[in-house]
Amino acid sequence: MTAETHAQRLHALREDTLARLARIHAHVQRTEAVPQSFSEQAVERKNDAVVEALGVRLRDELAAIDAALARVAAGTYESCALCGAAIGAERRAALPLTAVCAECAAQKS
Ligand SMILES: [Zn+2]
Repeated sequence: MTAETHAQRLHALREDTLARLARIHAHVQRTEAVPQSFSEQAVERKNDAVVEALGVRLRDELAAIDAALARVAAGTYESCALCGAAIGAERRAALPLTAVCAECAAQKS
């Protein structure tokens, strides 16, 4: 794959993540009335916590996408950040945001 293909794929992923974040913000900022009963409030708070956790995850993913795009721009996207070896096309296709080769990833865990 060329750097341009990588960038296109990452930008598509970024758009998708931004759209999901926008949906979460829409949920958080909804203006429906506050539920009255205690149990309704408890359910509402639990939902908010789940939505908030998802938002944090999506923002992390967005940061990882931006980091990957920076690696594409720097010409280091296809090289392992730890050992410098080429990251295989198969691994790259499965994990577009990874910065390390399969061997380094295995050693880390
Ligand atoms: Zn490596």
